Amino acid sequence: MSRLRLLILGGTSEASALARRLSGESWTAPVLSLAGATANPAPQPIPQRLGGFGGADGLAAYLVRERIAAVIDATHPFAAGISANAAVACRAAGVPLVVFTRPPWRPEPGDRWNEVPTMTAAVEALGIARKIVLLTQGRLQLAPFGRAPQHRYVVRAIDPPAEIDALPEHKLILARGPFSLAGELDLMRSERIETLVAKNSGGGATYPKIEAARALGIPVVIVRRPPPPEAEALHDIDLVMGWIATHRRAP
Ligand code: NAP
Repeated sequence: MSRLRLLILGGTSEASALARRLSGESWTAPVLSLAGATANPAPQPIPQRLGGFGGADGLAAYLVRERIAAVIDATHPFAAGISANAAVACRAAGVPLVVFTRPPWRPEPGDRWNEVPTMTAAVEALGIARKIVLLTQGRLQLAPFGRAPQHRYVVRAIDPPAEIDALPEHKLILARGPFSLAGELDLMRSERIETLVAKNSGGGATYPKIEAARALGIPVVIVRRPPPPEAEALHDIDLVMGWIATHRRAP
């Protein structure tokens, strides 16, 4: 029986979890694709490829060349470019596509959220008065905060962000999640954080910062997700495994 060739578009804990699950399924031949943004990506139990495909056309050509039978878009909900490309490429190449993503967080009692549409709007929402602000969006989208130089920024990222010098007063903390609630409480207390800026990523791995802000009464400027890609979306790994199984070839 030939194995089912799968492409997982990754860069998230969901993609890594799916890679672990598929590594034990000998009827599949999965490849995990990463953008190559993180200098030392965590090791994975299945073959990886790194770097862009060259837009939707490049991805469609890859799907045909590699005889990919199905694509699982498990990229981050804010990675709108690759998800849009995947939808176009899969349609063009006639390859089935499913989106494996986490539901967005919803505000709970005690949360002090100000929801904004973009990171630029998040900068505006910080206001004029000086604050100590925790930025957790990683390497990307720091430059807009250079337009509000009155604040002190505590920036947490996996790798040193290229844009950090746009922030006149900052402290860089290099760390890779998942982060615990106790750790997030410590960080917010010790850095005297007054506002958290976060994307509404959803999922458990980065939720403790939201819980810590709630516990400490810290306001959160939360950036809404971009529109979802045009494809069936599943939030549960077992449902994704079931979807993959529907494409299993007969022996
Ligand atoms: P993006 O704006 O949607 O993608 C930019 C370009 O990077 C894409 O057009 C594609 O290049 C390439 N690319 C992105 N993901 C790829 C993948 N998994 N495999 C191969 N190429 C990929 O994405 P982004 O916001 O820069 O995020 C980049 C990666 O980091 C994503 O894989 C995402 O899952 C992960 N990530 C993003 C965030 C976030 O907040 N945005 C957070 C955590 C993790 P080509 O057009 O040349 O194919």
